[in-house]
Amino acid sequence: MRDLYLNQTIRFIQETFQTTNFIPLHVPHFSGKEKRYLNECIDTTFVSSVGKFVDQFEEQIATIAQTNRAVAVVNGTAGIQVALRLAGVSAGDEVLTQALTFVATANAIVYNNAHPVFLDVDIDTMGLSPRAVSDFLEEHGDLREDGCYNKTTGRKISACLPMHTFGFPVHLDELIVVCKKWNIPIVEDAAESLGSLYKGKPTGSFGELGVFSFNGNKIATSGGGGAIVTNNKVLADQGKYLTTTAKQPHAYEYYHDALGYNYRMPNINAALACAQLEQLQGFLEKKRKLASSYKAYFSTKGIDFRTETQDTKANYWLMCVELANKEERNLFLETTNAQGVMTRPIWQLMFRLPMYKDCTRDSQKNAIFLEERIVNIPSSVI
Ligand SMILES: *Cc1c(COP(=O)(O)O)cnc(C)c1O
Repeated sequence: MRDLYLNQTIRFIQETFQTTNFIPLHVPHFSGKEKRYLNECIDTTFVSSVGKFVDQFEEQIATIAQTNRAVAVVNGTAGIQVALRLAGVSAGDEVLTQALTFVATANAIVYNNAHPVFLDVDIDTMGLSPRAVSDFLEEHGDLREDGCYNKTTGRKISACLPMHTFGFPVHLDELIVVCKKWNIPIVEDAAESLGSLYKGKPTGSFGELGVFSFNGNKIATSGGGGAIVTNNKVLADQGKYLTTTAKQPHAYEYYHDALGYNYRMPNINAALACAQLEQLQGFLEKKRKLASSYKAYFSTKGIDFRTETQDTKANYWLMCVELANKEERNLFLETTNAQGVMTRPIWQLMFRLPMYKDCTRDSQKNAIFLEERIVNIPSSVI
C-alpha cells in the first residue's frame, strides 16, 4: 500500500482546528443572536407551536432557496415524508431514489407506504445519476395518461427523490429532462445542501418541492427541524395545513378534514434557526476556505479531496477524501479515529439494511465504488 502520510494528516487537521483534543466531524457554531432570540421566546412565553420566529424562519428560507414559499417542519425526515405526499405519492407507488444516502431518504418513502427503487449515483456528484434513471425508465417505464408506471411491477412511479450528497448538487439539468419526459415530479432531498448552487440557483428550488434539514449536525441548525420549499403556492398551503393537524380555521371549533400530522417546528427551534441563518453566508465562506486549505494539503499527498463539480457551488457541509481502495479507506479510518480525529465512511448502501434488502435496484456500480472509498473528515466552521 502507498504511504498515506496519516501522521502528517492528523497533525494538519489538529493545527487547522487548533487543538490536540478530540476533533468531531461537525459541530454547530453559535456566534450570532442565538441567545437573544431564545431569551425572547422565554420572555414572551412563545416557545411552542406559534410565534413570530416560525414566520420569520419561513421567510428567510424562502429567500435563501429563492422559492415562493417555505413551510417549517419538525425535522427533515418529516419534511420529505410530507413533500412526497404533496407531490402525489400514494400507498403502493414507487419512488426513484439512490441507495447511497442517509437512511431518512428511504424511510420517508416508506412512511408513505410507497416502495423505494434504488438507482445508481454518478461518481462525480455522488448523487442520483440521470443516466441511471433514464436507463431504468427506458427498460421499465410505461407512460400513461395519468403518469408513469413500472410495466414490470404494475406500480405507479409517482416521484423521483434525488439527494445532494454532502452538499454537492446532482446533475439537475439532465435529471429534469429525464423526469419531464416520463412525467415524474422531482422532490429534492436537499437536507445536506442548504446554500449550494447549481448554475447559480439554490438546490431545493429545482424540484416540484425541496426539503432542508436543520438537525444539529447540518450547516445551520434549529436543534432539530426542517423546511419544505416550493414555488407552488397551493402545495405550500396544503403542506402547512397537513403539518399542523389539518385543522379548519375556526375561532373555537375543532374540525379536521384530513389525516394531518403534528409536524410543526416549535418557535424556540425557529428562533435558533433564525439566528443561524443570519450567519449562513459567513459559514459558507469559512467552509470554502477550509475546503481550499484541505485541497492544497491533500494535493501534495496525492490524495483526492472532493471539490465541487463544474457549474456548481457546493456548501461543503461535510468534506471528504476518496481513497484508492477499501484497504486504504480502513487504514485511514482506523488511524485517524484512534488519534482523536473523527472520520467516517460514507453510508452503507440502503439495500444492505434489513428493511430495504428486497427493494428493486440496478447494478449500483458507482455507489459500491464510492461506498468503499469515500471518507468524511472534520468539516466544522472555524
Ligand atoms: C439529515 C438528513 C435528513 C433528515 O433530516 P433530519 O432533520 O435529521 O430528520 C434526510 N436526508 C438526508 C440525506 C440527511 O442528511
